[in-house]
Amino acid sequence: MTEQIHARLLPIFNQVIQRNAGEGEFHQAVKEVLVSLGRVVSKHPEYAEQGLIERLCEPERQIIFRVPWIDDEGKVHINRGFRVQFNSALGPYKGGLRFHPSVNVGIIKFLGFEQTFKNALTGMPIGGGKGGSDFNPRGRSDHEIMRFCQSFMMELHRHIGEYIDVPAGDIGVAGREIGYMFGQFKRLTNRYEAGVITGKGMLYGGSRARTEATGYGTVYFVERMLATRKLTLEGQRAVVSGSGNVAIYTIKKLTELGARVIACSDSNGHVVDEDGIDLALLQEIKEQRRERISHYAKARGGHVKYIEGGSIWQGPCTIAIPAATQNELHEQDAKELVKNGLIAVGEGANMPSTPEAIHVFQEAGILFAPAKAANAGGVATSALEMQQNASRDSWTFAETDARLATIMRGIHDLCFETAEEYGVPGDYLNGANIAGFIRVAEAMKALGVI
Ligand code: GLU
Repeated sequence: MTEQIHARLLPIFNQVIQRNAGEGEFHQAVKEVLVSLGRVVSKHPEYAEQGLIERLCEPERQIIFRVPWIDDEGKVHINRGFRVQFNSALGPYKGGLRFHPSVNVGIIKFLGFEQTFKNALTGMPIGGGKGGSDFNPRGRSDHEIMRFCQSFMMELHRHIGEYIDVPAGDIGVAGREIGYMFGQFKRLTNRYEAGVITGKGMLYGGSRARTEATGYGTVYFVERMLATRKLTLEGQRAVVSGSGNVAIYTIKKLTELGARVIACSDSNGHVVDEDGIDLALLQEIKEQRRERISHYAKARGGHVKYIEGGSIWQGPCTIAIPAATQNELHEQDAKELVKNGLIAVGEGANMPSTPEAIHVFQEAGILFAPAKAANAGGVATSALEMQQNASRDSWTFAETDARLATIMRGIHDLCFETAEEYGVPGDYLNGANIAGFIRVAEAMKALGVI
């Protein structure tokens, strides 16, 4: 049986469900945190006062807008745009934009809620927010992407700023889209305000290592977690789901550190390459050609298997990195992984394991790095980008990467120590939720009821 919500916090959860009807992912994210906070309010009841936890569950502001755009054939399309400004106790709202047909207000709210805790864990001055659109970029021409981004920014520009809210990328939003959006922001405001958005190209205010940061950071976290059991990545057999930005740089760093990554995927299927994923080929297919993962198997030849549909988690591996999307790893997958010799999980995507899957990992004593902590390297490096923009500076790759590694070690140790302090040693999920909460809660207390 999974843990239940503390009686003191149950009315808060019931109100979240009532107010946000039908938003399953948001309920799931809130429930996980409230379960962890039971331990906090038993020890420190003052955190449950002044509506603090209620306020934390209610976004400060939610913006929903129409995004009209015209395709290459002259047809008008209407998408929906979102920005949920969740919490600004620690700094300006900060979080990515997701362009994917599955996007709705519940998805953006769950992501914004998670982001608030994740950003707190980095120790940097950033609040939490998230946005996006149900626009599907797949198969769209470059001009269509540009027109969409410009139309999206036509509304979003009223709500963002380097001291207000700083978007970045997420699924479906990378360098190209950030460039178009920043260009439109600059044109609309007549200001070269580089710190308004992160994930920018190097020629217009970007930071080195930002592209690599989420994947690299996840691996740095897993490496540190393995070290608590005197293990390393050398010789580990890894499976990484997804084949987007997070997956690609996770594969790169894992391989550099001596692991063999034998599988990755997209939403259609997965490839198994027992020789280890050929990174240059994967990057060419995904980043340049923008093709499906099935093309990897075709290009690589005979020994590589492409499996359409089905789960990537069915084969043996010691390290599992879900880096595709929310709720992609289910209870049955977790059981299979545990049976096949799994040692550690590092969540590269946001909320990729279902609560039932997490329960299986924890019962089996698997090292489990939850998304809020494990994938915080991306947003942490975004904060480093903001820092460089504010000081009109540009650091080397080595310096930025070294700062990222230090931040990830810090997050690991904070989660580890917090778990010990709250009587759940080795439980990084509770450690992350509690440590993130305490930082946000302390700032909220200091700022008064606002
Ligand atoms: N979308 C990323 C995340 O989930 C990065 C956000 C950012 O850099 O602001 O944390």
